[in-house]
Amino acid sequence: MSKLIRGIRGFKDISPDEAFRHRYAEDRTREHFARFGYREVRLPLVESTELFARGIGEATDIVDKEMYTFPDRNGVSLTLRPEGTASAVRAYLEGNWKAPSGVTKIFYTGPMFRYERPQKGRYRQFYQIGLEAIGGPGPLVDIEVIDLLHLLFVGLGVNDVKILVNSLGCPACRPAFRDDLVDYIKAAAGKLCSNCLRRIETNPMRVLDCKVPTCREALEGAPVILGYLCSDCDDHFSRVTAGLTGLGVPYEVDPKIVRGLDYYNRTAFEAVCDRLGAQNAVAAGGRYDGLAREIGGDAYGIGFAIGLERLTLVMDWKSAELPVVDYYVAAATQRARIPALGLADVLRGKGYLVEADLEDRSLKAQLRSANRAGALRVLIIGDDELRDETVQVKDFSTGQQQTVGRDSFLKELQALKTG
Ligand code: ATP
Ligand code: MG
Repeated sequence: MSKLIRGIRGFKDISPDEAFRHRYAEDRTREHFARFGYREVRLPLVESTELFARGIGEATDIVDKEMYTFPDRNGVSLTLRPEGTASAVRAYLEGNWKAPSGVTKIFYTGPMFRYERPQKGRYRQFYQIGLEAIGGPGPLVDIEVIDLLHLLFVGLGVNDVKILVNSLGCPACRPAFRDDLVDYIKAAAGKLCSNCLRRIETNPMRVLDCKVPTCREALEGAPVILGYLCSDCDDHFSRVTAGLTGLGVPYEVDPKIVRGLDYYNRTAFEAVCDRLGAQNAVAAGGRYDGLAREIGGDAYGIGFAIGLERLTLVMDWKSAELPVVDYYVAAATQRARIPALGLADVLRGKGYLVEADLEDRSLKAQLRSANRAGALRVLIIGDDELRDETVQVKDFSTGQQQTVGRDSFLKELQALKTG
């Protein structure tokens, strides 16, 4: 036998059990987004490298060291998308998706790619579901978007996700903060990790976000951006927090919430859950009024992205509906093999999950298999049942077994499913 070929590091296979959870979490999230008027868009996995370099920012972790970039056959530089916002705004501008009613509400879901050090909750291909509200300057949009995120967790029965909010100011007020922050960081440089030191020049705000405990400690007295906001940004932030309070959305103001992406301004927020350990952010988002201009258009915008892997980790799976095998159709004789598969098809046509033997096993082995599959009921057909047009129904929960007419069984079944 040749050597088993393995997958690529950081590219995780999603097993049937995990895929079920992803799908369930994604479906609930889609339904929730739809109730707020968001509509799905499907965007390419590959974009020109320039889109991310300009739209995310050269100095960010993503563009600096995490992108999967390669030349195509003509030497054009392409990149596997590391996030969805830049593509969504590009598509909005290019396709002229401005909603006549006002704010354009779109959402996307699918894989993102980042060259990161793989660890629990951090992969090189991971999945996000995210939304963008494009066209409104806020703060009402900001309030609704954060409210929506909060209600998503409520609807999923997750009650220990915290929403943290902050303001990142704007190009008018942020530079003064940045200067003071850089001074502070330089004075504390002896206590900081190499990553933070590298960021002093390129992206000092990201230093606030460092997870290394000694860095966190060294930054405890760092300047707080909220003290630097201009009156417009200050007013915006006060209205956002007052709106959240008015809607009963629990939140905490956390001045350490920054985004790694340059185009974010004003409202920034995260949903975190301590149960996740070091990678505790389930969702992250913010306002990005500067992004459209970077890529040649003009539009206000705010959005967030949820990490699907992490969302499935915080959900309570006891309350989710796991798939169950409704029927297992067993063939007692060789002649009944194809009729058994036919009966399985009829039941599937009525919407049931049905399994049948595909390995020519004995009846005893089939019943054992049905039991292992967790089937609720088994239907058995053999030569007698074929002749009499009957079927034996065995209910695993009660242990009862009876022979019934095939037609009346199917008729009753229909009544069950529609009633
Ligand atoms: P972090 O601080 O964890 O690196 P980030 O700022 O890079 O996060 P965003 O770009 O804001 O993350 O992405 C939004 C969400 O996507 C995160 O909150 C997380 O749930 C998820 N996410 C980001 N990167 C990864 C990854 N490599 N693997 C799995 N999920 C991820
Ligand atoms: Mg990251």
